[in-house]
Amino acid sequence: MNAARSSTATGTIATAKAARPAPAAPLRGRFAPSPTGPLHAGSLLAAVGSYLDARAIGGEWLVRIEDVDRQREVPGAADEILRTLERFGLQWDGAVVRQSERGAWYAEALAQLARADLSYPCSCARADLEAATGGRETRYPGHCRAAPRRPGAALAVRLRTHAAPPVTIVDRLQAALTQSVEDSVGDFVLRRRDGFYAYQLAVVVDDAAQGITDVVRGLDLYDNSPRQWLLQRALGLPAVRYLHLPLVVDSNGEKLSKSRRALPVGVAEIPATLGVVLAWLGHPPPASLSGAPAAEQLEWAALNWNINNLQVVTKLISSS
Ligand code: GLU
Ligand code: ZN
Repeated sequence: MNAARSSTATGTIATAKAARPAPAAPLRGRFAPSPTGPLHAGSLLAAVGSYLDARAIGGEWLVRIEDVDRQREVPGAADEILRTLERFGLQWDGAVVRQSERGAWYAEALAQLARADLSYPCSCARADLEAATGGRETRYPGHCRAAPRRPGAALAVRLRTHAAPPVTIVDRLQAALTQSVEDSVGDFVLRRRDGFYAYQLAVVVDDAAQGITDVVRGLDLYDNSPRQWLLQRALGLPAVRYLHLPLVVDSNGEKLSKSRRALPVGVAEIPATLGVVLAWLGHPPPASLSGAPAAEQLEWAALNWNINNLQVVTKLISSS
């Protein structure tokens, strides 16, 4: 009966849980780029790091295009990112998932939270919040917890955080992070007033639906993890393990994850670019592999993958 129901129904969280494939592989990782431009150095680092972490133990590696925010999307960027991954020999498993096609899943997750009274509608515009916090919107002060302040205004949806205890994330590499989400960000947005689902909601729903066991990404996202952990718990979804990769900073102190600098990704430049990225990840290929095809360098790095090497990476690189 249950089995029959779960094989015909689609799009509900309950179905997602029933239908989630038990990962046959020991680990399932993913790379989840936002198509806001071509793959930059920081995101290539996250792609290669998550790929190696999975492949090193025969795990699976999935790619998900995080195009939930259609306003920030650059037309053609998603396809360009996928082509670049292919050129670097980063072969993914299964079909690429696009968040723009998964609205029904996010709506069902929101409905689940609303039924449990774990969320509430919020009518605050940015200007209201700036006025309330003295010019800078920082932590949401909970204005609409009891009811939306402005009847008739467009509504966002926020997660209730005030009963939540501080969250401690134990990262596979970084020092543990303890954060009271209520004190540091407050009730955070799950769906924006303009109707777009928030990254925090989409990432948690999708990681669970795809059976992701290990999230490997840049350190700049570490302080999002407590929010994501709270949401996983609120939705009854399994927690994931986290590995946040050190950020690479160029000699101007600019984070490569933020840099818009184009990467040398022409066919002729790929082996050298990959060698540099592997060095940033603490796995510089031996001289015998200098200039070798991407697939050979990746095979070597997967065989030699050791996350302890990430700690000793010299974070400052030359911007020349
Ligand atoms: N889409 C996010 C980004 O490109 C990454 C999300 C994640 O890895 O959790 O920054
Ligand atoms: Zn509000």
